[in-house]
Amino acid sequence: MTQPLTDAQRKHELGLLARSLRQYLVWQRELGADGAPRPSAEELAQHAARVRAAERRAFEQEMGTDEPDTPAAAPAAEQPPAPRQAPPRSPDNPREALRRAAEALTEDTSSNTSEKRGNIYRFNNLMQSSASANRRPKRPAAPEGGATHRLSEVQRELDGCSRCALCRGRRNIVFGAGGPSPRLMFIGAAPGVNEDRQGRPFVGKAGQLLSRMVKAMTLDRKEVYVCHAVKCRPPGNRAPRAEELDTCRPVLEQQLEIIQPEVVVTLGEVAARSLLKVPQPLSKLQGEWQVWTSSGGARVRVMPTLHPDHLLRHPEDKGLAWQHLQKVMAVMNLKG
Ligand code: SF4
Repeated sequence: MTQPLTDAQRKHELGLLARSLRQYLVWQRELGADGAPRPSAEELAQHAARVRAAERRAFEQEMGTDEPDTPAAAPAAEQPPAPRQAPPRSPDNPREALRRAAEALTEDTSSNTSEKRGNIYRFNNLMQSSASANRRPKRPAAPEGGATHRLSEVQRELDGCSRCALCRGRRNIVFGAGGPSPRLMFIGAAPGVNEDRQGRPFVGKAGQLLSRMVKAMTLDRKEVYVCHAVKCRPPGNRAPRAEELDTCRPVLEQQLEIIQPEVVVTLGEVAARSLLKVPQPLSKLQGEWQVWTSSGGARVRVMPTLHPDHLLRHPEDKGLAWQHLQKVMAVMNLKG
């Protein structure tokens, strides 16, 4: 049975449909369409579905099938979110309106030029409003003093931290890493053995997979910021405890307030529940937009998804993670 589409998927599909129809209009203008065969709205929708399937296959190839390297840190197997009802086909539904406009164009056999122009005009208007719906929201002004400089100060203050028991077994504090003005921030639970050794976040096989996920989103690791909820490795790669998460939480909050990302993606259950302070399991949170509010009242969108360690163990869930990342791409107006 076909899964109902989420809002982001509908928006994405609308984008694909608009792209196909735009190509069709260009073709019509350049070659003259009167005697030429015209694709129906159904054919265009099928084409959009093929493009979407090809994108998903490319993503799954991009993510590869590596084996996990941090056996104890993986969250419990997650369940896919409950299916949603299909949206009503009302006159306000942009997808429906665009479909009708496409039908009017493809079935337009009228010899009346002004009628034809009217159809094309309405169709172009709909495509423009679809594009503006996807336009990236204005970002709040970055705080003064330079994010990089302020992050370095927080990191310096953290040097030698012994506020929780995790300080005893660590080699290095793994503060976080990323470009100077990242739009997107990934938060995992805790450093693993490789991260502890190198003092950098996500450097093992899970880190390589995360880099491929970032690349599939048309971004570079330098364009995102990556860190963990706790900055020191728990012994034996166990999950960090509630008191450890609470003690280290102010550092994470400072990072968020300084960076002010457009979107945060939490990786795995521990990171999601710790950041959002909610009791729900990841199976209820994943793929659904959440909001984190800073002490100053700034609100940041949060998308909980599966941890790369989980994806290394359960490659069959990569498609689900891709759906979550596509929602992020739609909000950030990233084109695949
Ligand atoms: S986990 Fe955080 S609070 Fe605990 S010792 Fe490390 S830096 Fe300090």
